[in-house]
Amino acid sequence: MAKRYKVVFDRDLCIGAAACATAHPSGWEIDKEDGKANLVGGIKTGVEKFEMVFDESQYRDFLNASEVCPVAGCIVIVEIEE
Ligand code: SF4
Repeated sequence: MAKRYKVVFDRDLCIGAAACATAHPSGWEIDKEDGKANLVGGIKTGVEKFEMVFDESQYRDFLNASEVCPVAGCIVIVEIEE
């Protein structure tokens, strides 16, 4: 079975560096109002917390966004156990 993953975005921590949107433009966009990132298609799970499940085909892109983000813990990739 194909692996599935979850991206967990803590928007509170975001400093608007935009590295995520540059590295992975289909997954992230910069909000015109506050300059922080938005996770495209993300589901709100808390005040400034968002998550989205994705499959292996998007793994490299989301991992890349997580690695270029300068803030530790802002974009976290988790493998979903099934
Ligand atoms: S790279 Fe990290 S800090 Fe910068 S906009 Fe994206 S989520 Fe925010």
